Amino acid sequence: MKKLRKNIVVLGGGFAGVESAIELGKERNFNVTLVSNRPYLYVYPTSIWVPVGKSTFADVTVPLNKIAKNRNFNFVEDSVSEIFGTENYVTLESGKQLEFDYLIVAMGADKLKSEGSENTLSICGEPEESLDIQKKLDLLIAKGSGKIAMGFGANPKDKSAVRGGPAFELMFNVHNRLKNEGIRDQFELTFFAPMPVPGARMGDKPVETMNMMFDMINMKKRFGKKIKRFEADRVVFEDDSELESDLIVYVSALTGHKTVVNSDLPVDESGFIEVNEFCEVKGFDNVYAVGDIAKLTGPEWKAKQGHIAEVMARNSARNIVIKENDLPFQKESYIHHLNILCVMDSGDGAGFLLRDDKRQIFVPLPIIGHWLKRGWGLYAKWSKLGYIPRIPGM
Ligand SMILES: Cc1cc2nc3c(=O)[nH]c(=O)nc-3n(C[C@H](O)[C@H](O)[C@H](O)COP(=O)(O)OP(=O)(O)OC[C@H]3O[C@@H](n4cnc5c(N)ncnc54)[C@H](O)[C@@H]3O)c2cc1C
Repeated sequence: MKKLRKNIVVLGGGFAGVESAIELGKERNFNVTLVSNRPYLYVYPTSIWVPVGKSTFADVTVPLNKIAKNRNFNFVEDSVSEIFGTENYVTLESGKQLEFDYLIVAMGADKLKSEGSENTLSICGEPEESLDIQKKLDLLIAKGSGKIAMGFGANPKDKSAVRGGPAFELMFNVHNRLKNEGIRDQFELTFFAPMPVPGARMGDKPVETMNMMFDMINMKKRFGKKIKRFEADRVVFEDDSELESDLIVYVSALTGHKTVVNSDLPVDESGFIEVNEFCEVKGFDNVYAVGDIAKLTGPEWKAKQGHIAEVMARNSARNIVIKENDLPFQKESYIHHLNILCVMDSGDGAGFLLRDDKRQIFVPLPIIGHWLKRGWGLYAKWSKLGYIPRIPGM
């Protein structure tokens, strides 16, 4: 006989975990518990404005206890230490043990380490780093001149685990901040990346437009050289050439989450969880993995993005409902939802980017693009809290 209420445990309080818990919380016969080591959902896409002072830290966070209360799930603030998939339980840092009937793993990805990375700051790392970048930038602005280098790294084993967009966005925002302060010509801004054509997966036309934009704002480029190490005041490349900088912002590529790598869940060579198109973890019938933590299958240009994380989350929730209630529906696959979709903000506008099997579109949206992204930021917060309905596809 089936248990009356099934225990569903969701690990991680990012876009993937929160969306999973919201969808599952709609089912009366599920008892849903979300575990996160942070008390808030961090809205990474709008966090690019924290370093330049256009948003506060509070603007880009949503308390998880509020979302949980409004969306009918339990929230536990704790860190997941171990996952025992075959034995149906997880252990937490506090010593607690949580048993599950179904498990959704959504703890995001770890970052690939480079030599000397302690000399860099990242917009894609721990949320508090955005405030550290802000402090360093403010000091440079007070000084009135300086050199700033921003870039991103590669993961040769998995191209979908590379995150260049936020570095582009932050660099353009910094340019505009300096311009507004009237000191842009006192600063040298350089963008660096190990690949010869950064952003190539967006398609040829978008890359061409981005390069034009770099030239228009007098941004220097160091492309196609592997990074050897970071020092306190410079980036050293494989050919021993150097790039001096007072502030280095580096977005390293993603790699598997250490807790998962040490668990009994199957992972690929980069440490991402092996799932099928329905987000079911291979070899398990009650464990799902969604968002950045999962290995993506699909076209060569695929990328780990927030909206894909949410599609995977909703699909997993629906697939659990279908299975649990023996519904006569097909399971939902994430594959045909894969695209690269982004409003890349520059501080004074944005570029609308869409890449899928048929299209490679990059449309510059001066002024309005920036406000569209700001509007999306509010929508993201309010819809998670249940104050406004979710718009399908957003
Ligand atoms: C600066 C930036 C800008 C971006 N802009 C865009 C954009 O414009 N559009 C877009 O689609 N995507 C964008 N992305 C990508 C998008 O944010 C990610 O794909 C998305 O956040 C992935 O969600 P996730 O829930 O899988 O992982 P995360 O957001 O990383 O969430 C993981 C969660 O798990 C928790 N966690 C980790 N380890 C543990 C543990 N041991 N125990 C308990 N909890 C744990 C973390 O605290 C976190 O809450 C951007 C990313 C960054 C960094």
